[in-house]
Amino acid sequence: MHERLLRVNMTRVRFCKNCPMRRRTTQAHSKFGLRAVMLRPALMIARAILTLTLTLSTICAADDDAEARKTMVMEIRAGVGATSSEIGKETLNKQVMHAMATVPRHEFVPSHLREYAYLNRPLPIGYGQTISQPYIVALMTDIVDVNSDDVVLEIGTGSGYQAAVLAELVKHVYTIEIIKDLGAQASDRLKRLGYNKVTTRIGDGYYGWEQYAPFDAIVVTAAAGQIPPPLIEQLKLGGKMVIPVGTGFATQYLVLVKKDPDGKVSTKELLPVRFVPLTGGH
Ligand code: SAM
Repeated sequence: MHERLLRVNMTRVRFCKNCPMRRRTTQAHSKFGLRAVMLRPALMIARAILTLTLTLSTICAADDDAEARKTMVMEIRAGVGATSSEIGKETLNKQVMHAMATVPRHEFVPSHLREYAYLNRPLPIGYGQTISQPYIVALMTDIVDVNSDDVVLEIGTGSGYQAAVLAELVKHVYTIEIIKDLGAQASDRLKRLGYNKVTTRIGDGYYGWEQYAPFDAIVVTAAAGQIPPPLIEQLKLGGKMVIPVGTGFATQYLVLVKKDPDGKVSTKELLPVRFVPLTGGH
C-alpha cells in the first residue's frame, strides 16, 4: 500500500488535477508524499551547491597549480642566473620556459608528493628513481636547441615529465625506459594527459632506437660511464645530444655532444650534476 501511494505521488501532475481520485491522492500526498515533495527542491539545491563547490574547488586547485608553476619558473630563472658562467648564458629560450610553465608537473609525481610538485628539486617516483629537478629539465631542453620540426629521442622516461616538456616543443618524442612498470605508468599517464606526440618503449636505451633514427636531438636522463656509441651514431648531422657522464662516486658532468654537418663529433662539459645511473647489460 505504502509503495502504491508513493507511486501516485510521483505522477500527481498527470493524474491528480481533474480526476475523481484527486481527493484521495491529495490525502495520499499529505499522508506520505508531502515530505517527499518538500524534500525534492531541498535535494536539488543541495545537489547544485555540491556541484558548485566541486567546480569551484577544481578551479581553485587549477589556479593554485598555475600559480605554483609561475613560482617554479621564477626559481628556474634564478638558477640559470646563478649558473650563467658555467652554462654560458643568462637566460633560457622563451619557448622552453613557456613549456615549463605549461606542463602540469603535479601529474607526474606520486600523489602523496603532490604538494612538493612545483618545488625546484628532484622527487622520488618509486623503483629507486627520480623525476629530475625542474631547472635541470629546462636546461637540458634548452641545450639541445630543438624546433617544431624536430624528432627527439629521450633515454630514461621515468615519470614522463621530460618527454612531455619536449613534446610541447617538437614534432615527435621517442622515449625509452628500462624499468617495465615505470615505463608502463609513464605511457598511461602521457596518454591520459593527451601527449600523443610521445611514443614510449621499454628497453635498454644504451642502444638507442634504430628504427626511428637519425634524431635531431637526444636527451639522456641517466648518467653513463661513457657516451654510448649507438647514440652518437643515431644523432643526425648537425644534431645535439645532452647527457650526464660519470660513474660511481666520481663527479658527473652534464655534457653537450654536437655532431657537425660533416659528421665530426665534439663534446663540452657544462656543469657538475647528480643523476641516477644508466643501467642495463651493455
Ligand atoms: N626523465 C625522467 C622524468 O622526467 O621523470 C627522469 C629520469 S630518471 C632521472 C632516470 C631514468 O632512467 C630512470 O627512470 C631509470 O630507470 C632510467 N634508466 C636507467 N638506465 C636506463 C637504460 N639503460 N635505458 C633506459 N632507461 C634507463
